[in-house]
Amino acid sequence: MHHSTDLKRMETHCDYAFVHPSINRDLFAAGTTAHAILERVAQLKPETDEEVTEIAEAVVEHLITEGRAFDGIPEPPLPVNAVMEGKAIALKYMMYNGLPSGEPEVGMAVDADLNPVEYLSPEALYGCIHDNIEFGVDDDGEMEYDVVVSTDYKSAWPTDAGELETMQRKGQALTLYARYKDKVQCLRMRVVNLRTGMSYEKDIFLDEMGVEMLEGWWRELKMVCRKADKLVADPGKAQPRPGIACVGCPLAAGECEEAWVVAMGGADQVDRYIAAQAVVDQSKPVIRTMMKNKTVTSGAGFKERARKVLKDDAIDLIVEQWCKGDLPWNPPTDQGELRALLLAANLGVTQVRNLAKVMFPGRELASDREAFIDSVTFGTTVAEFGVWK
Ligand code: SF4
Repeated sequence: MHHSTDLKRMETHCDYAFVHPSINRDLFAAGTTAHAILERVAQLKPETDEEVTEIAEAVVEHLITEGRAFDGIPEPPLPVNAVMEGKAIALKYMMYNGLPSGEPEVGMAVDADLNPVEYLSPEALYGCIHDNIEFGVDDDGEMEYDVVVSTDYKSAWPTDAGELETMQRKGQALTLYARYKDKVQCLRMRVVNLRTGMSYEKDIFLDEMGVEMLEGWWRELKMVCRKADKLVADPGKAQPRPGIACVGCPLAAGECEEAWVVAMGGADQVDRYIAAQAVVDQSKPVIRTMMKNKTVTSGAGFKERARKVLKDDAIDLIVEQWCKGDLPWNPPTDQGELRALLLAANLGVTQVRNLAKVMFPGRELASDREAFIDSVTFGTTVAEFGVWK
């Protein structure tokens, strides 16, 4: 069976990335963690924030001590930093977008004639996992129709509506079509950017036009599967294709010499820049894991950097100061709503400095301004990753 995630490496990167056996899964640890937390929350249906946090912490503990299993194959524990990042992504997403409902992590597959078969069945030609499946009823103002919604969570910052047009999503739509074509009149493909909270949707109606489009996608997918068969049979034919495809490729961290050759001395300056950027981006999490929080005085790794962070009661202090009434205009008086607004804005020290400039404008109030900033922040250190001289 060809898995959608393997074919995606061929589609997004290159043939060499598809056949290469040693994909460093640590690179996907943050996304894996966010997915795992959303899956458990959808399964356990917690009712309070505390329960959501408990579920997230249990998932984190499992991933950093035991690791996960992919298609039943156990994998080693994931790096702590990346897992914590994934936890933060999932919790923030759920705080602003609600908890997932529906059925999580649903494996589906089709055979060579687009018949639905069991996921991982020996007859399967193509298979995928839907992050979440839900059924509903919609209407177009005249009549109601049944819809199946497949949600795909993405943790990559650049995720946008373009993800709806990938071969991966087309393949996922085909598995839905094969399984539910007699049950629903519409397939709703949804992609969610977990970092920004943005959601993108595409409805495929199972009318004559929709079915024709799906049949075209099926012909394309079968061609890709035939190509994948050939590459699996003769991996030597899979050539690296360094260039823009290297961005985000897990092999750029080291396994793909070709990307390094271009990064170090490619003839084209733009190709050199892109390959070098890909090597740096993909190497960062690998070196991070190697350093395991060890600090360095020179070279690459973590270094303690002093910085200010907001105190726990910073929002209350800011609202109190803001509402004091000695501003050049009538300030809002409802502290509750204002506090909720500031809380939702997820303020950092930079934004608080900007607010303080408004509350204490001009040079003559500079010392009051600094005193106020000091009253709502405290000094700490963070381990910052980078190259140090
Ligand atoms: S780093 Fe570039 S050339 Fe190498 S496998 Fe990835 S996409 Fe292909």
